[in-house]
Amino acid sequence: MKILLIHPQNYLQRHSTGIYGRNLRYAPLTMPTLKALIPFDLKFETQIVDEMIEDLDFNIKADLVGITAITGTAGRAYEIADHFRKKGIPVILGGIHPTLQTNESLMHADTVVKGYAERTWPQLLYDFKARKLQKVYEDKEPFDASLIISPDRSKIHSKDYMGSCTVEMSRGCSNKCDFCISHQFHHSYICRKIEDVIHEIKNMKSKIIFFLDPNLIGNREHTKEFLSELSKLKKWWVGCASLDIADDPELLSLAAKSGCKGLLMGFESLRQSALISSGKIKNIGKTYSNVVDLLHEHGISVQACFVFGFDTDDKSVFEEASEYIINAKFDLPQISIYTPFPGTPVFEKMVKDNRIITRNWSLYNGQNVVFKPMQMSVKELEIGTDLVRKNSYSWKALSGRLFTKPIWIKPLVFMSYLNFRYYQYRITKAGLEYNV
Ligand code: SF4
Repeated sequence: MKILLIHPQNYLQRHSTGIYGRNLRYAPLTMPTLKALIPFDLKFETQIVDEMIEDLDFNIKADLVGITAITGTAGRAYEIADHFRKKGIPVILGGIHPTLQTNESLMHADTVVKGYAERTWPQLLYDFKARKLQKVYEDKEPFDASLIISPDRSKIHSKDYMGSCTVEMSRGCSNKCDFCISHQFHHSYICRKIEDVIHEIKNMKSKIIFFLDPNLIGNREHTKEFLSELSKLKKWWVGCASLDIADDPELLSLAAKSGCKGLLMGFESLRQSALISSGKIKNIGKTYSNVVDLLHEHGISVQACFVFGFDTDDKSVFEEASEYIINAKFDLPQISIYTPFPGTPVFEKMVKDNRIITRNWSLYNGQNVVFKPMQMSVKELEIGTDLVRKNSYSWKALSGRLFTKPIWIKPLVFMSYLNFRYYQYRITKAGLEYNV
């Protein structure tokens, strides 16, 4: 028996038609984790296809197909699922979108796995072998983080990812930002056993580790303990953290000591009104430039995410943000458009208010306007966001950033910068190609 596990991609990222350069690819954990969870006694053969790095051969032979999907990849996942089902091969859908939009997903799959698969996936495979596949598998029991096992990375093409050594220390996030889909899927913030994660990292040959956790500091005391252990391994690492890392000198210093070289952080908006209305409480009252300076003093570079299109945003937000982003010396600004993901209360509210303008999930990738903004037109939001993007990636902005601390990381920042400039150019081109 052979299982084909597919990680589909949005049109912006897809290999050969996508926009990301090689430098921006991180090895996903879902499929290697599902592979590791296959009961040994079933003796199933496995193949993993990640559309980020390779084309999917629609003629691959398989007895069962498993596809994971987030909102932005759901359309592609359905296309692939429909194809294999037409050939008589059962298809399983799982991940955030099928969990939150189960009925829709069932129109394209034999079975949907809702939520975490640690207990349901092995059961599903036994049922498949016994020809007793059910429509929905959902683990309703309390979840213990010790159930999370190390992924089996033997079937992924490590060399094709810049970030091949990816790992998770936790799942979920302790915050509840209203636009974020993470806490709709992960019902609570859980941390893995420290010794399990350390053991996994010890076995990785690469010097640099990429944490894929939505927020590494959801439980600060646990993170401190973990970082103390991690520092013994003499690795470098990058990951995501909320801004309150800057409030805790001990945590910040442990992060630096354990090899933290970069953090992706959601600054989201300069406007307090947007932070308050969206529940981004950890950012309220913070002076962003101080946070960035503090991180730089610790040798940590900052990839700063900003979002435009909050209901409180008016047309003046773009000029204001452009100027701030240039002067605050964020190493890598990431500019996105507010996206109400299906499954969030924000989406439901917008449906009720007749503000959702498309249900083409492929456009739910943070780069398209999918709703009617409150204080401007769709076009104005698109053009305004584009202006911020262009200003943030101008040569003037780059020259201002290149000579700030930490200096050692600047060649990498410069390379990433060029890559991002290319990426931004491709976003515009992809918009034209895909008529979005
Ligand atoms: S801090 Fe980040 S991961 Fe956590 S809820 Fe907010 S947006 Fe989501």
